[in-house]
Amino acid sequence: MIDPDKYASATVVSRSDPAPDLWIIRIHTETELPYRPGQYVTVGLQTNGRIIERPYSICSSPLEDEIELFIERVPDGELSDPLFALGVGGEMIVRRRTKGLFLRDAPLVDEPHLFVATVTGVAPFVSLLRTLASRARSGEWSPVPVITLQGAARSPELGYADELVALAEEFEWFTYVPTVSRPWEDPKWTGEWGRVEDVIRKYADQAGMRPGYGGVFLCGHPGMISGARAIMRRAGFDNKAIREEQYWPD
Ligand SMILES: Cc1cc2nc3c(=O)[nH]c(=O)nc-3n(C[C@H](O)[C@H](O)[C@H](O)COP(=O)(O)OP(=O)(O)OC[C@H]3O[C@@H](n4cnc5c(N)ncnc54)[C@H](O)[C@@H]3O)c2cc1C
Repeated sequence: MIDPDKYASATVVSRSDPAPDLWIIRIHTETELPYRPGQYVTVGLQTNGRIIERPYSICSSPLEDEIELFIERVPDGELSDPLFALGVGGEMIVRRRTKGLFLRDAPLVDEPHLFVATVTGVAPFVSLLRTLASRARSGEWSPVPVITLQGAARSPELGYADELVALAEEFEWFTYVPTVSRPWEDPKWTGEWGRVEDVIRKYADQAGMRPGYGGVFLCGHPGMISGARAIMRRAGFDNKAIREEQYWPD
C-alpha cells in the first residue's frame, strides 16, 4: 500500500532520447512539489508489492510547471531499467519531499562558479542556469561568471548541449565547454576532447579563479569527482570551495 502522505503519483508528459540509454522526461505530478535548483526528487515504481526508488536531480527550474529529469539507463539497473520502458502517459510515484543541499550556496556573490558534470550530472546545473537566465533577463540578478564543463563519451550524450550553447550566445557571463572522451567516434567534433578533469584547470585559470576566489561544483560520476577534487585541491582550493553531488558510491 502506497502511503499518500509520503508519495504522489506522476505521469510522463513528454520524452526525448538524445542517445541510446539516455532520456529526458517531463513529468506532471498530482500535487505541486516545491524545490530549489540543485535538489532531487525520489522516483519510484511499485513491483511485486515493493517500492523501488532512487533519487534523480531535477533539470527544470522551479519557475516551470513540470518536473524534468535526465536519466541514464544502467544495464540491469533495478529502477532505471523499468523506468526506461515508460513512454508518454506512463505512471510512477514520487516522494512529496524533494531534497538536497548541493547548490544551496549558489549563486555565490561576486565570485565565479565552475560547474563540472559528467553526462546526466549536468541536471542540477541546468535547473540553476534556467533560473539564473530568467532572473538575468528581468534584471533581478547581477551576473557573475559561470562556466559549465560537461564530459561525455560521445557528443549526443551531452543531452543539453543545444540549450547551453544558446545560453552562452545570449549571456556574456556564461561559458559552456563540452568535452568528449571518444572523439574518434565523433568525426565532426571540433570541441575539447578528453575527460573534464583534463580541462578543469585550464578553464578555472581562464576565469581568474584562485584559492579564496571562486566555487567549484562537481556532479555525477564518482571517478570524475575524486579526480577533479584532487586537481582543484592541488591548485590550492580548500574543501569548502568544492561542493559535490556523487551519483553512486566509488
Ligand atoms: C543525489 C543523486 C542524484 C541523482 N541524479 C541522477 C540523475 O539526474 N540522472 C541519473 O541518471 N541518475 C541519477 N542518480 C543515480 C540514480 O539515483 C540511480 O542510482 C541510477 O538511476 C541507477 O539506479 P538503478 O536502480 O537502475 O541501478 P542499481 O540497480 O541501483 O545499480 C546501481 C549500480 O550501477 C552502477 N552504475 C553505473 N552507471 C550508473 C549511473 N549512471 N548511475 C548510478 N549507478 C550507476 C553503480 O555501480 C551502482 O552501484 C542520482 C543519484 C543521487 C545520489
